[in-house]
Amino acid sequence: MSLIGEVARRREALLESLREIVTLESPSTDKAAVDRLARLLQERCRGLGAEVTVYPQAEYGDLMVASWPARGRDAEPLLVMTHIDTVWPLGTIERRPFVVEDDVARGPGVFDMKASVAMMLEAVRWLDERGLEHRPIRWLINTEEEVGSPVSRPLIEELARQSSYVLCLEPPVPPMGALKTSRKGVGIFTVRIRGRAAHAGADPEKGVSAIQELANQIQYLHSLTDFSLGTTVNVGVVGGGTRPNVVAEEAWARVDLRVATMSEAERVVAAILGSRPWLPGAEVTVEGGLNRPPMERTPVIVAAFERAREIGREIGLELTEAATGGASDGNFTAALGVPTIDGLGCPGDGGHAEHEYIRISGLVERTALLIALLHKL
Ligand SMILES: [Zn+2]
Repeated sequence: MSLIGEVARRREALLESLREIVTLESPSTDKAAVDRLARLLQERCRGLGAEVTVYPQAEYGDLMVASWPARGRDAEPLLVMTHIDTVWPLGTIERRPFVVEDDVARGPGVFDMKASVAMMLEAVRWLDERGLEHRPIRWLINTEEEVGSPVSRPLIEELARQSSYVLCLEPPVPPMGALKTSRKGVGIFTVRIRGRAAHAGADPEKGVSAIQELANQIQYLHSLTDFSLGTTVNVGVVGGGTRPNVVAEEAWARVDLRVATMSEAERVVAAILGSRPWLPGAEVTVEGGLNRPPMERTPVIVAAFERAREIGREIGLELTEAATGGASDGNFTAALGVPTIDGLGCPGDGGHAEHEYIRISGLVERTALLIALLHKL
């Protein structure tokens, strides 16, 4: 029987495991909730023979790494990356519980990326049960990916540098489940404007409107967008002023930058940080920078994808690749030059959206693929 056919026999067990993981809600911003799920996974991993290291955190959930020694191989480790935090607040599960209908499973975080956690638990169980050989495996469970991995980045980079490959179990590209060989980099900025308040009726000429200056800044920032280069600047949130009859003293904007290459990142980040006021008397300060570097489709990334494609073919899967504007922890590891295979999660759609779902046939196929990658890479 084919590997996919064999894994399909584990469908019910996989779904039961996924139900438990989805039902324990884990928004990035709720440490207690994320830690509850992490503790369950620590137990599961220890039960599967892992040595578990917990990295306590003050604000976000505790990070953890589960490590399995090599079996029958003497080689550098593989790093598997998942995150258990979601964008869904506590209580979403009551309104949108975990449900299975035919080939579809729904629930908060099921696609991004709790299915991946169930897949990985099953894959290590499978390798162990059958005594299949593999490199040392390290599984990083991140708890603050959805807020930009502010705490985990150094740990991710340290583990990646010691690894032969990084398998990033982020969801693939809908609808067909393409792997991600190119991701844009993301910059996050806050622009603050200081003007001078004045009575809008009695002596407007004594004022300097922070809001007028903000309008200039918005025009400038959006003019940095260049679709042909894949560079976009979006002023997504603005605020300022106090009353209609007061010349605004303060205004601010929050800005999102996306770039396809590191050279574009350097150019546009400098242009944003270097923004100057147009209105005499206004002050502009810009804070922020590149949060995640772009994952460029380098020869290293292409070679890693090709290797995954070969292994996919051996089990009867035809893998495709695509580019995405979204960033992940794979951006960090790819930027270090470590072969990174991203988008290995479960096919489905609706990440960060109400209609989020996975395809259960995809869950079976991608679990089989993960087993094959862990065994053969
Ligand atoms: Zn994700």
